[in-house]
Amino acid sequence: MKRILLRALRWGAVLLLVIMVALIGRGWYAFRDRVPGYTLDVKIDAAPSQAAPQPLRAGFGRVKINPDLSDPKRPVWVAGFGQNRAATALHDDLWAIACVLDDGHSRVGMVVLDAIGFFHDDVVAVRRACAAEWKLDYVIVCSTHNHSTPDLMGMWGPHPLKSGVDPRYREQVIAAAARSLGDAVAALQPARVAYHEIPMPTDGLVADTRKPIVFDSDARVMHFTGIGNGHTLGTIVGWANHPETPWSRNTELTSDFCGFLRDALEHGVQQEGRQLAAGVGGIHLYVNGAVGGLMTTHPSVTVRDPYLDQEFKEPSHAKSRAVGHQLAARILPRLHEPHVSRYDFAPIGVRARTLEMPIDNKLFLAAAYLGVFDRGHVRWRHLRTEVALLTIGEASIACVPGEIYPEIINGGIERPPGADFDIEPVEVPPLREVMPGRVKFVFGLANDELGYLIPKSEWDVKPPFLYDSNGVYGEINSCGPEAGRIIHAALAELCREMTPVAAGE
Ligand SMILES: [Zn+2]
Repeated sequence: MKRILLRALRWGAVLLLVIMVALIGRGWYAFRDRVPGYTLDVKIDAAPSQAAPQPLRAGFGRVKINPDLSDPKRPVWVAGFGQNRAATALHDDLWAIACVLDDGHSRVGMVVLDAIGFFHDDVVAVRRACAAEWKLDYVIVCSTHNHSTPDLMGMWGPHPLKSGVDPRYREQVIAAAARSLGDAVAALQPARVAYHEIPMPTDGLVADTRKPIVFDSDARVMHFTGIGNGHTLGTIVGWANHPETPWSRNTELTSDFCGFLRDALEHGVQQEGRQLAAGVGGIHLYVNGAVGGLMTTHPSVTVRDPYLDQEFKEPSHAKSRAVGHQLAARILPRLHEPHVSRYDFAPIGVRARTLEMPIDNKLFLAAAYLGVFDRGHVRWRHLRTEVALLTIGEASIACVPGEIYPEIINGGIERPPGADFDIEPVEVPPLREVMPGRVKFVFGLANDELGYLIPKSEWDVKPPFLYDSNGVYGEINSCGPEAGRIIHAALAELCREMTPVAAGE
């Protein structure tokens, strides 16, 4: 009897050991660094370009990134709301759209994806897929954060424990992003650039669903025109709003208002054969900015389509179009304006740096362990991410690797009653105050998607809740209470390092 017990104990111990080794092995595999040794410290000074100016050149390219919907055995999981939302149709095309700029001294590329988010490892894969002869000194990959596109992060599979990412689709997007950059390089030609800051209303367009009420409402535009004929080559449009207009029950893939805006800028707006607005041609990049905290065309918001003179409240593609048209109605007149300053020179400066982001969020860790998030940790509980600051003549661009709260960008961080940390705001001064240049773009979800970047003094997971509320949304999709502070500090440091250079005519 004693011998049987001993044997059972021995086998039990062996089994326990095997299980532990399997669990640890699983963890080691899940958290392994996908791009070991990858670090980036780009320092491109605009001063040599300023001292010996060469004509600006710009090029645009685009490649469709529609998934294959033909195989019912391989459902395409739609990202952004709940799990188990299989795509039923393609309403309009999804794109990777690229712009390459060359000031004669250095060359930068940017590509924007109609996607929910793209992790840093995937951004590295895009960079590695770019050909050396394209001579790109720095590449930015942004997502529009679209909630009607295939899952590229993993959170929206058939159930919470299974990734919604189809690896083949991820490879397709990486290849398309690189190809769009290659097309933009091939299209490089002498160009002029005009800068616009365009006020946008928030009423009837965007809601802020979490206090304090702070928006990043203005649109910012760089408009590139050809030297010879003045034709539009393309634009870069920055604004801040969640592309989730068709809302949670929609199962048709769409580029949302971003696509309707791009379409209106290019082709104008027609109805029943009548031209309601003239487009400018060219290829247009829509880049999302400070969408955290949370900027959204919520189903409670009624949007009027200024061209069709119709109002839309219920989530629909027509409502997305109305949002796109609201933007186009304010941007197009500026693009048609003949008397704006256009610059032949736009010295390029870049500061870009990888950094480590600690992960406090246990759900994020569990998702990584289970393989729902397929991204590496550079060391235990630390992700590799990246910040960047660019100057393009009179414009500057802060590349933020997630969804930053607008108060970190524009000011207005509060120390509300109920917050978990009773501290003064730490993400100060506001980023836009320290950014160089005249027209200051924020590229959100740039080179990574870390989730929400929340001011530490507004962090709230424990009761009592902010402003006597019943709890707030945001923290569940954040790396932790330090994430906002770390990104703010890293970008502020890049701003201090960057010497502003004025554009020349
Ligand atoms: Zn979001």
